[in-house]
Amino acid sequence: MIYADYNASAPLRPAVKAAMAHHLDLCLGNPSSVHAYGRKARALIENARRTLAAALGLPDDYAIVFTSGATEGNNTILRGFKGNVLVCAIEHPSVLDVRTDAQRIPAERTGIVNLCALEDLLKQSQGPTLVSVMAANNETGIIQPMAAIAALCQKYKAFYHCDAVQALGRIPLDCTLFDAMTFSGHKIGAPAGVGFMVVKKSFPYTPYTRGGGQEQSLRAGTENIFGILALATALEEALREQWDNTENLRSAIEARIYSVCPSALLATGNIDRLPNTAMIHMPGVSAELQVIHFDMAGIALSAGAACSSGKVKTSHVLRAMGYGHEEASCAVRMSLTPTVTQQEADKIASTWIELFNRRHHQGSLTQRAEGRH
Ligand code: PMP
Repeated sequence: MIYADYNASAPLRPAVKAAMAHHLDLCLGNPSSVHAYGRKARALIENARRTLAAALGLPDDYAIVFTSGATEGNNTILRGFKGNVLVCAIEHPSVLDVRTDAQRIPAERTGIVNLCALEDLLKQSQGPTLVSVMAANNETGIIQPMAAIAALCQKYKAFYHCDAVQALGRIPLDCTLFDAMTFSGHKIGAPAGVGFMVVKKSFPYTPYTRGGGQEQSLRAGTENIFGILALATALEEALREQWDNTENLRSAIEARIYSVCPSALLATGNIDRLPNTAMIHMPGVSAELQVIHFDMAGIALSAGAACSSGKVKTSHVLRAMGYGHEEASCAVRMSLTPTVTQQEADKIASTWIELFNRRHHQGSLTQRAEGRH
């Protein structure tokens, strides 16, 4: 199989597996217990926290809070904030669907947040305001102008939350631009079920889970110690990752597809994108059918908007960018790994072109049989 669904979940890193296996053999207690087993567990967690803080270059006025993943992190920040919330229309559902009272900031055709609309909303907003705009989109890979958004937030004294799940380890991140950031372990090669938030200590929010006092009372519940240890190893490796080869191979795949169908490439152009992601539209062929075709050819990729039930929905991200229903329901997301090879890239491009030609050919045969041209 060729794995081209890295944005959905990154494979567990061998170094992470080894670090976890090593710790699984230790007898660790509850990190809140005062005895030696508990103290050992606590020391490991605090060590992992320091490793993450150092890797991200966090200043002292930021805290790391461990969570079960980015969905919990996003829910915590958005629900816990008392005031107006502005969310961009291209956000992940774990941001978009949390606050029914949130106002939507439109996106431009390029996939970038509309900065003029954001400024208008900020001007009108009365009282404490939180702006939530992701760093990079999971479907299109489009990277948001984070410094410009931070400057607007500063100008209007708003708080800035960033879902930075897809950006971590793929593009440089300046954490000091934000009041709160949310991250997920399984997107950087740790297991699913663990994540963390980076929160400025002055950011006002009410914790989502209460009752245990863990994580400086910011997230109650016994810490996922093995997941947390995995995070520290995964992040250190992820930050060393080289993506140049992946980006070149992505360009090569896109060039071959462009040569047979120039309208296939969506969300491209002169705009910053993650190096591994492409959104590709095949006219008249549903995303679901394309995913099945690729799967049968031994290639795992996904429709941009696969939901938890496995059903394929029309991409709300493409719709928010102004693409029509047909484009938004006939596009697949390819998200390459950092280790993708030339041979794998060739196969991905050939598989797409083969399905396109077959469909195109069938279409013209039908038209000819019906006397249309
Ligand atoms: N935000 C983004 C941008 C994501 O891509 C995802 C995962 N699809 C999440 C949030 C949710 O992360 P988790 O799986 O850790 O809950």
